[in-house]
Amino acid sequence: MRIANQNGITIEEDGKKVILDPSRQVENGVVTHGHLDHLVKDAFMTPPTLDVLEIRKGEKRGEELLYGFPQDIGGFEVTLYPAGHVFGSAMVKVEDVLYTGDFNPQGGRTCKRAVPYDCEILIIESTYGKTQYRLPSKEHVTTDLLAWIEQQLDEGPVALGAYQFGKAQEVIALLNEIGEEPYVSSSIADICAVYNSYDIGLEYNRWEDDPLEDNYTAVLPSNELRRPVGEKMRRIRKDGGSSTYLSGWCSIYPFYNSMDIDAQFPLSDHAGFDELLEFVEGCDPEKVYTVHGSAKEFAEEVEEQLGIEAEKLE
Ligand SMILES: [Zn+2]
Repeated sequence: MRIANQNGITIEEDGKKVILDPSRQVENGVVTHGHLDHLVKDAFMTPPTLDVLEIRKGEKRGEELLYGFPQDIGGFEVTLYPAGHVFGSAMVKVEDVLYTGDFNPQGGRTCKRAVPYDCEILIIESTYGKTQYRLPSKEHVTTDLLAWIEQQLDEGPVALGAYQFGKAQEVIALLNEIGEEPYVSSSIADICAVYNSYDIGLEYNRWEDDPLEDNYTAVLPSNELRRPVGEKMRRIRKDGGSSTYLSGWCSIYPFYNSMDIDAQFPLSDHAGFDELLEFVEGCDPEKVYTVHGSAKEFAEEVEEQLGIEAEKLE
């Protein structure tokens, strides 16, 4: 079997071939989720990812593949499993090879968590692959975040900056739990509509549907909060509001200079360092390939801490 990081994760054996997260349109491609650096037309993907493709790329072109249903792709038996990263995100099992794609073993309000599967070869993303990239538990972060929001709402509106697909909808689901129906930008609302077509039941208002009430919440794309701030963020400041940014990187870097924020919370849709190691252990593979982020560093940690052969996939 030949595995290479070439136009995506290419797996080949005896004339069989599949390309996972292809970098361009290819034959027998599998797209793991709807983030823009992964979306390619005419590939296999889950139905929600296909709907997100339509919204973000203007065309619904691809093959639907449901979680847990094996499918012959390029001669291989391929099965998708929940990845816990964003709604519709998938890990891909190609016979005895498991590719995590972007994943989170904690899952979220809007996506099932990723669980480890026995495999011979594990290809794992290593965004947070350095020892210092440890993330607090989601439960801990969301408790702190909701307490902060409720406190700030006594003073005025609250803006939450988050990536517009995945994180934003998680935050909306959280706000709904405390009885808040946030105002959201149209880019976020369009993707919420996909979630709700699968009965996720997100409750929100479109920002354009003014009038804003007193002490409202707003979920906005992160660039609205980046200095110089966008028009919506200016309005929130004018109304005496506060703001926060939500990203796993908040546990490592301060964003107070680059963004107009009063607080930041490390809410991540990726596995942190400890979860990455734990996941590898759970899959009990003979060989590990690492991709993305701190791939070289994480491969070294896997060899050192778990004694499993590992290398960055080239
Ligand atoms: Zn992603």
